[in-house]
Amino acid sequence: MKRFFLLLTSIFFLLTSHAQLERVEPMFWWTQMVNPKLQLLVHGNKIAGYSVSLNYKGVTLQKVKMVENSNYLFLDLLIDKNAKPGKFDIVFSQQGKKALRYAYELKQQDKSTNRNQGVTDKDLIYLIMPDRFSNGDTTNDKIAGMKDQTLNRDSMYYRHGGDLQGIINHLDYLKDLGVTAIWLTPEIENDMSHASYHGYAATDLYKIDPRYGTNDLYKTYVEKCHALGLKVIKDVVPNHIGSEGWMMQDLPMKDWVHQWPKYTNTNYRDEPLMDPHASASDRKLQLDGWFVPSMPDVNESNTYVQNYYIQNYIWWIEYAGIDGYRIDTYPYNDPQFMASWAQAIKAQFPSFTLFGETFVQTVAEQAFYTEGNTVNRGFDTHLQGVTDYALNASIYEALNGKEGWDNGVNRLYETLSQDFLYKDPAKNSVFLDDHDVSRFYSVVGENFDKYKMGIAILLTMRGIPELYYGTEILMKNFSDPDGLVREDFKGGWANDSVDKFTAEGRTDSENIAFNYVKILADYRKKSSALQIGKLMQYVPEKNIYVYFRYNNKQTVMIIVNGNDSSKTLDTHRFGERLNGFTKAKNIITQEKLLGIQSIDLPRHSATILELEK
Ligand code: CA
Repeated sequence: MKRFFLLLTSIFFLLTSHAQLERVEPMFWWTQMVNPKLQLLVHGNKIAGYSVSLNYKGVTLQKVKMVENSNYLFLDLLIDKNAKPGKFDIVFSQQGKKALRYAYELKQQDKSTNRNQGVTDKDLIYLIMPDRFSNGDTTNDKIAGMKDQTLNRDSMYYRHGGDLQGIINHLDYLKDLGVTAIWLTPEIENDMSHASYHGYAATDLYKIDPRYGTNDLYKTYVEKCHALGLKVIKDVVPNHIGSEGWMMQDLPMKDWVHQWPKYTNTNYRDEPLMDPHASASDRKLQLDGWFVPSMPDVNESNTYVQNYYIQNYIWWIEYAGIDGYRIDTYPYNDPQFMASWAQAIKAQFPSFTLFGETFVQTVAEQAFYTEGNTVNRGFDTHLQGVTDYALNASIYEALNGKEGWDNGVNRLYETLSQDFLYKDPAKNSVFLDDHDVSRFYSVVGENFDKYKMGIAILLTMRGIPELYYGTEILMKNFSDPDGLVREDFKGGWANDSVDKFTAEGRTDSENIAFNYVKILADYRKKSSALQIGKLMQYVPEKNIYVYFRYNNKQTVMIIVNGNDSSKTLDTHRFGERLNGFTKAKNIITQEKLLGIQSIDLPRHSATILELEK
């Protein structure tokens, strides 16, 4: 029986061994790119046995490279300035006979002004897990042939059916809330057997997961966002890939990913890279260890990998017109590669935004990973900003902690005083929660006063504020396990009993929360001081923390009362910023203050005042 099976498979092999071109990547490219070089990856059975030619004005095939695996060829092309948009055949010949053709296309770049705009501190980012937001197309909930066939909204590990169409259907909701940019957790194909919903185990870097839609639909989603004045951030994971993807099944060369004698995990530390006392073995574990067994660590020092990754990320920006990348697990990537990757992207798209996830504790660690910082590290990362976890922890301490030298609002003050370590702290993403941490409303003990304080700090702080989906409607839970903070947005599925996308579907307190976010988001949109103004903070006294956002047009005063009792603030010591101002408007209540020498503060409150003369 076994022999019969072997015979059958070898016949099958003989029949199929001739010539299939499985992939050419990038599938197409553009003329007039800053870098005239392009390295095509060609994947096909025994493709290395073919000779390759092409004939197109302005395009030179400089080199055909064979690698360890004879199912691959890498073609080095030079596309000069004279090359016109159009199609040409790449011809693969064997024994002088033309056997295979790939119709390659060079397209014209789309220079429309609302593409590749970059995301800045003028924006408010809204973070969505696409599987958990809204199911706009039930026909794609399960895709035949994909490994994860789960579809059960009762399990946090199974797929729930959310997709791009669901997000497109609710862009008006986001616009109404005051959001100006959307960040989706990875929507790239994750054809993995288990927990494929989270998206961080890519199996095809050129394909939107069919359960979310198609590449075309992704492009349409970006266009619809741009038409509404919403920017788009793509979440990318250069550090690792999914173990069940096509490439892992047939690696171009063994060292495409980091190989270890036996399975070796990363130490999940970010310190060895910056630590002057670190061992080389700890550094190697940080950078080359695998994230988890199902996510092999990509070898970013391999030049073929480097070309493939740089081109892939440039491809998505030009193809879809997106505005920024959020880079997952930034500290585990090869630092030199990430610097050159960022430079290559910025050379082509100068306005494009890059910020890295640095899930760390201190400002120094975060600053180490950002561009042009004051720490001499010998080279520049070219990473504009990071996800500001140090500030996140400080905001929580300000809201939940007891007053003390390093505690309560003093922690927030201290953390911001460390901003000198960054070239530009305004490029950091500021947040209260995300898909990896406990939900904000739960962390403040479902205390509504503290909720409002946190939202007020988020939307008046320096940096790019990010709101996690559902925080505006008081979604809660602790991230143990993390699936609990990735629940469905109620109303996103046709059979949901309530619809939180509408005021009628929300409870009274959810509407108060929604409107609180909306008032501040709308105000921030018009406030140059909050968007791009300077920050001045004062040493907290008696657990009251005062900071200003200001420029020559506008001054906004934010007073955080961390006390469990109401207080009256004597403003005498803030003369530097109050100079010339005699009145103020409370941004939340719209109440006018006819004098600002002393200001009444409710218990646990953040008061936001636009100063007037
Ligand atoms: Ca669906």
